[in-house]
Amino acid sequence: MSEKTERLKTVIIGSGPAGYTAAIYAARADLKPVMYTGMEPGGQLTTTTEVDNFPGYPEGIDGPTMMVQLQQQAERFGTDVRIGMVTAVELNDEIGGIHKLTIDDDKVIEAETVIISTGASAKYLNLPSEQRLRGGGVSACAVCDGFFYKGQNVAIVGGGDTAAEEASYLANICNKVTMLIRKDHMRASKAMQHRVNNLKNIDVRYNTEIDEVLGDQVVEGLRMVNNQTGKKEEIAITGLFIAIGHTPNTGIFKGQLDMDETGYILTKGKSTKTNKPGVFASGDAQDKEYRQAVTAAGTGCMAALDAERYLATVETPEEVI
Ligand code: NDP
Repeated sequence: MSEKTERLKTVIIGSGPAGYTAAIYAARADLKPVMYTGMEPGGQLTTTTEVDNFPGYPEGIDGPTMMVQLQQQAERFGTDVRIGMVTAVELNDEIGGIHKLTIDDDKVIEAETVIISTGASAKYLNLPSEQRLRGGGVSACAVCDGFFYKGQNVAIVGGGDTAAEEASYLANICNKVTMLIRKDHMRASKAMQHRVNNLKNIDVRYNTEIDEVLGDQVVEGLRMVNNQTGKKEEIAITGLFIAIGHTPNTGIFKGQLDMDETGYILTKGKSTKTNKPGVFASGDAQDKEYRQAVTAAGTGCMAALDAERYLATVETPEEVI
């Protein structure tokens, strides 16, 4: 075995709620997990402010603090948390086979089991004014942040099921929701469209895009543009929600793991098993439906239990020294 190769029982890729929960369970089951945190240690929650909907925090908790606490909890049971990116994978097809992971294009790890918790990234419009005000009123998660805009006027961009669902959610909390859809129709299912159209405080604007998000430190308004007529209009809002889809962070597994057409990893039945024995997927990398910290944590737990049961039933080849 080369100097740079290390043999491990369980490697967890990604450090969001799914990864840390997998780590807590795997460490307690003596799988001696090593976690590679990825580029954004702590995952998507580190970009939100207050987390009010994770059970057990009656006063809420800010995302970065919660992730530090999850890390401490995982380390308390012996998880080895390492800062690093898995840059390539060679997943074995055989039951009991060893999977090879390359870290930072350099070190090679041999893993008996792999738990994928690489998450997903919300798409943004990438307008300079939108990027500048992220965390200052621009959010990509209405369920996480909508409550902060109770009774206020907000806007949401997107015409898919997520946008429709989040617009309805916001309409229950906020005074008025302006929904910007770039086409002359919504992509969302008919049922979701009915729901949106039946809510009187949602103002749907078709053929409409953002020209600029207004405000210095926090969102104060929006300049919209009709992409058919070129007509611009300014509205006063305090919150802007971007709901134009997510991209699962699963690129390195393409061609090796079964995925749906948008890149979400497919798991078997109610388990976290992928099409490769010993490789398990948890969190947003395999879930485009719920995408909550608590559901991600739940599947992280499942992945560790699946890995433990798998290791108990297979024989892995001896380490070659
Ligand atoms: P989608 O990809 O379905 O929709 C994205 C929306 O954002 C589209 O309306 C798209 O417009 C718009 N959009 C994309 N880029 C831009 C841009 N640059 N500027 C303005 N608008 C833009 O993503 P969703 O997150 O809504 O849904 C993902 C999947 O999850 C879907 O399969 C959906 O059905 C599913 N889902 C199901 C739910 C449920 O059943 N309860 C709830 C949530 C999601 P355009 O149409 O013009 O391309």
